[in-house]
Amino acid sequence: MVAENKKADRILGKVWLAGAGPGDAGLLTVKAKELMEKADTIIYDALIGTEILCQLPAEKELIYVGKRTGHHHATQEEINQILLAKAKEGKSVLRLKGGDPLVFGRGGEELEVLVREGIPFEIVPGVTSATAVLAYAGIPLTHRDYASSFHVITGHPRKDGISRIDYPALAKLEGTLVFLMGLSRAGEICQGLIDAGMPMDTPAAVLERGTNARQRSVVSDVTNLPRKIKEEGILSPAVLAVGKVCALASELAWAGKRILGGRQFVVTRPKEQGAELARRLRELGAQVLEVPAIRTVPIRQNESFAKRMGQFARQKGEAWLVFTSPTGVRVFFAEMLEQGMDLRSFFCREAKVKLAVIGSATRNALREYGVLADLMPEVYDSEHLGRLLAKTAAAGSEIVIARAREGAETLVPILEEAGFTVTDLALYRIKTTCHEKLREAVAATFAAGEVDGVIFTSASTVKGFAQEFLSGAVWEPEMVTAVCIGVQTAEEARQYKMKTLVSEEASMDGLVEVLCKTFGGRGGEEEALVEGFGGRGGEEEVLGESLGGRGDEEETAWQYIH
Ligand code: SAH
Repeated sequence: MVAENKKADRILGKVWLAGAGPGDAGLLTVKAKELMEKADTIIYDALIGTEILCQLPAEKELIYVGKRTGHHHATQEEINQILLAKAKEGKSVLRLKGGDPLVFGRGGEELEVLVREGIPFEIVPGVTSATAVLAYAGIPLTHRDYASSFHVITGHPRKDGISRIDYPALAKLEGTLVFLMGLSRAGEICQGLIDAGMPMDTPAAVLERGTNARQRSVVSDVTNLPRKIKEEGILSPAVLAVGKVCALASELAWAGKRILGGRQFVVTRPKEQGAELARRLRELGAQVLEVPAIRTVPIRQNESFAKRMGQFARQKGEAWLVFTSPTGVRVFFAEMLEQGMDLRSFFCREAKVKLAVIGSATRNALREYGVLADLMPEVYDSEHLGRLLAKTAAAGSEIVIARAREGAETLVPILEEAGFTVTDLALYRIKTTCHEKLREAVAATFAAGEVDGVIFTSASTVKGFAQEFLSGAVWEPEMVTAVCIGVQTAEEARQYKMKTLVSEEASMDGLVEVLCKTFGGRGGEEEALVEGFGGRGGEEEVLGESLGGRGDEEETAWQYIH
């Protein structure tokens, strides 16, 4: 991001003070989302929800300045210093705050510091909890019949403990009162309003973790609300709302009524491909933590590629090039260009080059390059591919498998046993990636029993997830319900002692269906669905297809268990 501003011979960065909304990732503004991708440094605090944390790119400089009880947290002065230091390094800095940055976020103080130092900034407003949390509870802030204004008030005590809340003034207003940071003083606030003349039966509500999957609302009246808060064990963050409109919640509540409302799932996929599944689950009302458990990294300056493909080009007789994933296809063609080769190197010579693919997503990826596959097994897995290829290829054929370094171990032995010369050509690596704060936040979500299921679309994602999250984790694998796209993925999940659910059909629709049946509405069919559904072998491939052929990294790390 360009952020060059010369002042006194220094290159200054720039700061974007942005709001991240109250939790639901769908409430991020387009601008905030773009900045998350573009900024060099992201400085964020505790109110940023886990769903949004998941979307902070791990390769950025991420600085957490939030508060957590019992831990040291950065003081406002320290935060100011970090902001200044980063901007002075010439960085473009995204200062991300919960809700709207200028609604009780101390955003104003940070801006004053920037102005004083001559550092350029922009403000990106966010969706504030003061409005959104009520909306998600079905409480209209204003209503022609009940409230013609609304007022947002801090319930936070000053350091000297003296209340600044002018109860007589508030009690006179006919509008809706919204208290932020008021939970710990709910008793005092309600009493203050009653003492100032507010009718004792005025409807009031407390709204905990609004806009998130586990949001809770308790609707009562100003007299009884403090008692209800204690009884229900309501925790921060929570908004207090006072006014007639609160009574409408029983009629207008909607968030929990969505098919997957109140549910939270973890999707582990390489980033781009997980997005579509996450989108569909969100559409059904679920909150989705998109945890990038694995990532594909092309092997740059791949010498064995240059050498092997150079030979391949000079080959006589039959030779097979085998692809086991769309990623493999894409990296292969990119690498060819990198090496100054194109398709003519192979197909216009004496060699009779043939192409085999593991399944339809890989086949489609190949088509994008104008090439049709010669061979594809009926069941999309490496064992079936190996057997079919062994039967089809002419004796003495050379076979090159272009795939991930962590590829399945089944394929090569089948072909070697059948007497072929096989080259296992590594094109890319599979890496796990997760920033530390995210790992912590995800761990805490699991430990609180708030993840309904982890969705796995290949055995390699199970492995990636287990490596990333289960080593040294504070939760047990038994706490994880693995929702798997096919039997082989489920087999892998069971190896790690996870509970498993398997989609009946190995496709994205199949996954969505099993999730809705198990977790939709009031559930109930859970038992019938646990374990034991077949499905076609090659899982990922099928998913890849429903993702428009972009979906697959599958074969890369499968281990088949027979
Ligand atoms: N700038 C933020 C508010 C910061 S003050 C905004 O515009 O939303 C912190 C207070 O916000 C919390 O004490 C709580 O009262 C409220 N809050 C923030 N997020 C919330 C959420 N998801 N649910 C309920 N209350 C929330």
